[in-house]
Amino acid sequence: MENKRKDWIFDKSQKELEKYCITSGFKKYGATQIMKWIYRRKTFDFAEMTDLSESLRKKLANNFCAETPKIVDTKYEEDSDGYSKKYLIKLSDGETIESVLINYRNRKTLCVSSQIGCKMGCVYCETSGLGFIRNLTSGEIISQILVIEDDIENKITNIVFMGMGEPLDNIAEVEKSLDIISNANFIAVAPRKITISTCGVLSTLPNIENHKYKIAISLNAADNITRSKIMPINKKFPIENIVKLINDRKPSIHNKITIEYVLIKDINDHIGNTKKLIKMFSPSKVKFNLIPLNKEKKSIYLKNFETSDDKTIADFKSKLFKAGFTVTIRFSKAQSVNGGCGQLKAEKIYSQ
Ligand code: SF4
Repeated sequence: MENKRKDWIFDKSQKELEKYCITSGFKKYGATQIMKWIYRRKTFDFAEMTDLSESLRKKLANNFCAETPKIVDTKYEEDSDGYSKKYLIKLSDGETIESVLINYRNRKTLCVSSQIGCKMGCVYCETSGLGFIRNLTSGEIISQILVIEDDIENKITNIVFMGMGEPLDNIAEVEKSLDIISNANFIAVAPRKITISTCGVLSTLPNIENHKYKIAISLNAADNITRSKIMPINKKFPIENIVKLINDRKPSIHNKITIEYVLIKDINDHIGNTKKLIKMFSPSKVKFNLIPLNKEKKSIYLKNFETSDDKTIADFKSKLFKAGFTVTIRFSKAQSVNGGCGQLKAEKIYSQ
């Protein structure tokens, strides 16, 4: 952004803008008007916000900038069902983030990043090879939607927080962004169309639950020894804590938690694990999403891991399905552009 002294308008919550309007001598409602211009009409020039008084427009122009980050690269993959597009977006400090659009069967799902890199260290994830650089601000999360809606000249219908980073490790900015993303006056993606995917940061999960967003928890093992080996977070929040949290919830067919399970050959894909999973969970409270490991061809980071074979994946699914669970297998739609789960920023790592 050109003028460092100006605040970035996309980082402001509705409450913060209301306070700004009141302390600047304008009506509180001015904040809603400004945000409708920005998020509903995609008008980023304050001079064009014609239902605001001229003095407010001038003041906004003096105090805020509204420049969106730039898309610096894209990769595109198409098949008979639709397409995926991976975006590299440059932020004001020169750092880059990735977002992936998956456009299938009229559903435009955007996978957004919440951090640059990640500190969680899941061994099956290419992003964790980057280490942790910094949290994204709420504006940087929201602006991924704005620039990609502008690129496709259409509205995003679903949002998944499954890009770079652990969203619950950046809970304040993620919650702030969600207030704008899910607000019917602004970006207007309904909470039931927003999924927050976590590796199991249970301390901040209740903040998300209270708002009826969908939740996906990466479990990836049926015992603590295996899970701790592949997901260091398990030492802090072990499997029994996840099971308790889920089993203490009221059953709801509309808001089951998704248990994500990345299948890694000979690490966590023994068929006996399905027995343990069936014992742990109830079909009334969870559904399973099995994810064959995405492995970038040049991967050094994942060199010791292989994707489970097709028969194992099918058997795993069948056992859980027969026990009454809804089970899906997520064959990544964006794999050839390295936009599959756990692949974001893989190219940066291998080009270094
Ligand atoms: S899987 Fe998610 S939480 Fe784990 S290291 Fe990768 S980005 Fe972080």
